[in-house]
Amino acid sequence: MTSEGQSENSCPLCDFDDRNVIIADDDYVFAIISENPINPYHVLVVPKEHYESFNRLPDFLASHLFLLAKRLSAAVRQASQAHAITHLSDDGVSWGGFDLVPHYKLHIIPRFKGDGTPIVWHRQSNLGSLARTQFADAVRSALQRQARKE
Ligand SMILES: [Zn+2]
Repeated sequence: MTSEGQSENSCPLCDFDDRNVIIADDDYVFAIISENPINPYHVLVVPKEHYESFNRLPDFLASHLFLLAKRLSAAVRQASQAHAITHLSDDGVSWGGFDLVPHYKLHIIPRFKGDGTPIVWHRQSNLGSLARTQFADAVRSALQRQARKE
């Protein structure tokens, strides 16, 4: 059963069955060692049901996924001896030509001093107070529209 109309047959995460790399598995979520890691021990936490967008996950599933990710992050950090962990998620990646599996997932990426990962922070240097305020206003407006719909 899919939630967004995509055929399960076309999604490698809906069909995933390599038990050797599954590190956690319950009724709603599973977690695997990434096939194409940014760093060793890179983990994907995946809802079993197909969702492309984070905001489409039922609340209980989003909570459940992040609570599992919290536990797994500690285990990954210990197992990998990482200096830190970066969390990223793929949300709605079928838009914009990203070459990623369009099934929502949360990445747990161990970080090591000098690991040279292509994750670049501070891409826009000093965004400025005016722009930040405009972005904050836009998000607050979206939250108010969202609250009116609920
Ligand atoms: Zn899927």
